[in-house]
Amino acid sequence: MKNEKPGLYIHVPFCQSKCVYCNFYSITSINLIPQFVAALIKEIKLSKGTFNSFDTIYIGGGTPSVLTCGQLAEIIVAINKFYKIDGKAEITLEVNPGDVSIEYFKTLRSLGINRLNIGTQSFDDKILNFLGRRHNANEARRAIRDARTAGFKNLGIDLIYGIHGQSINLWKKTLAEAISFRPEHLSCYQLALDESTPLYKKYHEKKIKESSENRQKKYFFTTAEELEKAGYIHYEVSNFARNNNFRSRHNMKYWRHMPYLGLGPAAHSFLENRRWWNVASVKNYMAILARRKMPVESEEMLTAEQLKLEILFLGLRTGEGVDLKLYRQRFGADLLTDKKNIIEPLIKNKLLEVKNGHLRPTLAGMAVADSLALI
Ligand code: SF4
Repeated sequence: MKNEKPGLYIHVPFCQSKCVYCNFYSITSINLIPQFVAALIKEIKLSKGTFNSFDTIYIGGGTPSVLTCGQLAEIIVAINKFYKIDGKAEITLEVNPGDVSIEYFKTLRSLGINRLNIGTQSFDDKILNFLGRRHNANEARRAIRDARTAGFKNLGIDLIYGIHGQSINLWKKTLAEAISFRPEHLSCYQLALDESTPLYKKYHEKKIKESSENRQKKYFFTTAEELEKAGYIHYEVSNFARNNNFRSRHNMKYWRHMPYLGLGPAAHSFLENRRWWNVASVKNYMAILARRKMPVESEEMLTAEQLKLEILFLGLRTGEGVDLKLYRQRFGADLLTDKKNIIEPLIKNKLLEVKNGHLRPTLAGMAVADSLALI
């Protein structure tokens, strides 16, 4: 953590089509991409000053792989022109299996992108179809192989579990196939039903039964067991790495409450005690930048108490937990005493433990990390 720089997030708000479970901000008007790229480059330039250098860049979305290599090159050139990027920076691109080829991957490498997250979600066509994904299982397999052939040595596979029609055995099969590619990183997310999505409607019109809490826990523990058996480190509730060097350095900054700059519509930024976020509309974003103004929608200033709670609950999502020494240095207080009323019952219930100077979640604690944040 020492000497770490802030992270840069770029939100590419376009998808060829919307998946039925998705609550990320993205639109399907891909004809707007050239204007969006021009606006983003303006934002990169106008943002200079708040942050000067980064050691991680994460290009997410949406579907960043709807951009051509030429458009990605323009963005990366602009970032390098206005910011100092660490020589060993982790530079990640999220890709959709249906969009990519060996040639595309090779060009990404030549642009300096050194890490890929492949939005695989499942190796079962029925499940992919249910989720409204554009790609099929064979395209996902081919994308993973092509990324390796193109020379990517840091590859992440994203999967989803807890889906209607997905038995625990079917999920295990998907996990086994993912493991067979020996990815450096795996993200396994539980399907979340957000009220704004068509999938939520489908479930709540009683067409589909939601997984029970017990069943969701079964998926969670099965995932942890299978991946740990395969040698992966369970370093965050939904994230696993082949070793500590392959943890997502960028996402670790969020969980460690470190500063980051987010550019693009709906992107969030954080520095010291200030959080601000951009307008969640591509059209407004472009219109504001055309006037050479920052496309910020709003901001909040966190109180010391809010900061303490965020550090606690973000840290408790991770295997490393909260560093007690760092907490003391930052707030001049002992976390275990400061938040005794929250922490003590959780330790008693074996959801948290103190180990090597860190307050950490146990596996049972990780399974309920989302509800811990509501305490
Ligand atoms: S590709 Fe990703 S961002 Fe786009 S609609 Fe599907 S889940 Fe959402």
